[in-house]
Amino acid sequence: MKYEAVIGLEVHAELSTKSKIYCSCSAKFGAGINTHTCPVCTGMPGALPVLNRQVVHYAAKMGLATGCTINQLCKADRKNYFYPDLPKAYQISQFDVPICENGEVWFYVNGEKKCCRLERIHFEEDAGKLLHEEIDGTVVDFNRCGVPLIEMVTRPDLRSSAEAKEFLETIKTTLSYLDICDCKMEEGSIRCDINVSIRPEGSEELGTRVEMKNVNTFSGAVRAIDYEIKRQIDLVEAGGTVQQETRRWDDVKMKNTVMRTKEDAQDYRYFPDPDLIAVEIDDAWLEKIRSEIPELPVSRYERYRNEYGMTAMEARQLSDSFAKATMLDEAAASGKVKPKAAANWILSDVSKYLNDTEKELEATALTSEKLVDLICLIDSGTISGNAGKKVLVQLFETDESAEQIVERLGLKQVSDEGAILSIVQDVLAKNEKAVADFKAGKNVTGFLVGQCMKASKGQGNPQVINKLLAAELQKL
Ligand code: ADP
Ligand code: MG
Ligand code: ZN
Repeated sequence: MKYEAVIGLEVHAELSTKSKIYCSCSAKFGAGINTHTCPVCTGMPGALPVLNRQVVHYAAKMGLATGCTINQLCKADRKNYFYPDLPKAYQISQFDVPICENGEVWFYVNGEKKCCRLERIHFEEDAGKLLHEEIDGTVVDFNRCGVPLIEMVTRPDLRSSAEAKEFLETIKTTLSYLDICDCKMEEGSIRCDINVSIRPEGSEELGTRVEMKNVNTFSGAVRAIDYEIKRQIDLVEAGGTVQQETRRWDDVKMKNTVMRTKEDAQDYRYFPDPDLIAVEIDDAWLEKIRSEIPELPVSRYERYRNEYGMTAMEARQLSDSFAKATMLDEAAASGKVKPKAAANWILSDVSKYLNDTEKELEATALTSEKLVDLICLIDSGTISGNAGKKVLVQLFETDESAEQIVERLGLKQVSDEGAILSIVQDVLAKNEKAVADFKAGKNVTGFLVGQCMKASKGQGNPQVINKLLAAELQKL
């Protein structure tokens, strides 16, 4: 029998607010153990939470960007469970009225456009971290306790690990476009739980699902999904049935093992948090949030494909980075350069510099205006393409304009025909052998152009050199 996989994801993203969700402790990653803590986030009796307004703002922003309905009146609920990384013994989350519902995320898989619906997005607090030390036992670090999260729950719309990966990549680029999450996978800024079931191909009914936890990377998600689909098919083919359970993925051993079965499923005893009041987002605030949302990655991707004729790879590389895409769009909007020329510079030399130096585009001195000026200097023949590469490196690192750099480095291209003619004649006089070869019918143009370039210290305009050299050789 042929089977179809059905996958639903629960994605957690840490919001990049300065302070935690219910207290004023710093939410920054990487501080000394238990230095970002206070009575609220360590669950001291009597300490009262106060909601961080920025969390509501960011959660609603993600909801609007994914076409969700925003519940302008929502609330916080207690999700009760005991675990040492959660000192209150409950997590403040949202239950029946999440801030966002019924969204859609669009993405491309092998050239085909797909949609995965979002059931909801809610905000909640992160738990602390257990550090298992070899000698001293286990230590609890509460720095992460109370760091704001949004949880995005999909409908079971994904059908393969490839679709899940593209969905996750799209969530990531969207979060980074919205500037609400730092997206540092290695710091756990985006994490996901994966639900997998199988069903006979053509069937509309959902099969029994298995939930997988402990997936830390998108490539790990692909491996975990492929493993679980195969495990379920093998089980069913062998006459068994899939049990509803939670399994832990081990990305080193490349397999998963049972964590808990349906029988010991938890009852979280949700109830409205009596320490917090309802959250209201008025129309004006909602409109302000909406106005902050830039054109999103998939839309830019389509525009670059359709309007600029870019390849899927080029359009993807540009639209994946908000900074690069914005630089391209600003350069195109200047009307002074061809969009494709700007795109080529960004994809090649700009990207290479950023890779080599491990810098973010925003952290360099390059702006779209500077890039446009540089391309114009090349287009007008003022400098050569090669000199342009030298100028670009300076544009990243100094506040000078392209013109100032050209001046300082003496890179101006010589196009003056009189000056170039004397170089050409000089080169011909000094290269008797090449001239003899030319008369004997050999092709020596490349060599002679090289000599002229050298004599002009690289500043001679190659087109003018070619033209005048050809004319002089004709005369011989
Ligand atoms: P819970 O609250 O127990 O985590 P939900 O019903 O909220 O359960 O579902 C969680 C996730 O599981 C959602 O992303 C949903 O799309 C997915 N899911 C639900 N049923 C299935 C199924 N049969 N196969 C695959 N995924 C599923
Ligand atoms: Mg769940
Ligand atoms: Zn605190």
